[in-house]
Amino acid sequence: MKKIIINYRLAYFGLLLAFLTQSCAKDKNGDRLLFSIDQDIALGEQVAHTVDSTYRAKGQLIERNNSRYAPAYQHLDAIVNRVLSSGQVAYKDEFKWDTKIIKDDKTLNAFATPGGHIYVFSGLIKYLDNEDQFAGVLGHEIAHADKRHTTKQLQTQYGINLLLAIVVGENQGALTQIATGLTGLKFGRDAEREADDFSVVYLSGTNYACNGAAGFFQKTQSENQSAGVPEFLSTHPDPGNRIEAINNKAQQQGCKTTPSGSTSFTQMKNILNQ
Ligand SMILES: [Zn+2]
Repeated sequence: MKKIIINYRLAYFGLLLAFLTQSCAKDKNGDRLLFSIDQDIALGEQVAHTVDSTYRAKGQLIERNNSRYAPAYQHLDAIVNRVLSSGQVAYKDEFKWDTKIIKDDKTLNAFATPGGHIYVFSGLIKYLDNEDQFAGVLGHEIAHADKRHTTKQLQTQYGINLLLAIVVGENQGALTQIATGLTGLKFGRDAEREADDFSVVYLSGTNYACNGAAGFFQKTQSENQSAGVPEFLSTHPDPGNRIEAINNKAQQQGCKTTPSGSTSFTQMKNILNQ
């Protein structure tokens, strides 16, 4: 009889182990998250929908079907596609990777939802000097989604049950809170460092200067910035360390650091000034 009980226990632990192994399988980044990739995608859809309607209500979302801004979106999509085609983005095919522009010239920011919806404020685009810097910043945001930093941060902040409720369409209040809070979502230093590193890795597979993101930090350092604190700077008080780290990573990768000299970025800025 005792043997049978032991066998039952073994079977129970076997099942438990099988469940845990399945639900905590390593993702493509080698991380174990309770939240699955499909749930990242579903949460991202809900959050992006709410972000869209929030900025649309304020008249700030530049719609993709607005013909006046169509060339700006063509430029933007081309840059994003170059970064995505580097062969280094783990969830290139699974995530949505739609990038939208929010018309707000005072905000120097960009953010990503889980599942790869990227938002860029017009203020950031106008602030940057060249397309390589912009590609670097986009690479940083793509990394936050691809490395699932946003999901991990939201899971820590809100708990998995709340996120799962949002995935199935419940708790609109929390969804709105998350969507509007993404601009100020603070990641840990490790996540920021990893996003900077992968910006270099992604860009090393393109014609852009792979340390493009460093150019952004150099600019914020040389000009005393008062027009809103970018998400980047709110988590890292010393951009100097980041410039050095990005340049070190570029050296390590052996990738080119001379700007591509693309002229389409100026055209993009001009369109946003219309
Ligand atoms: Zn960041």
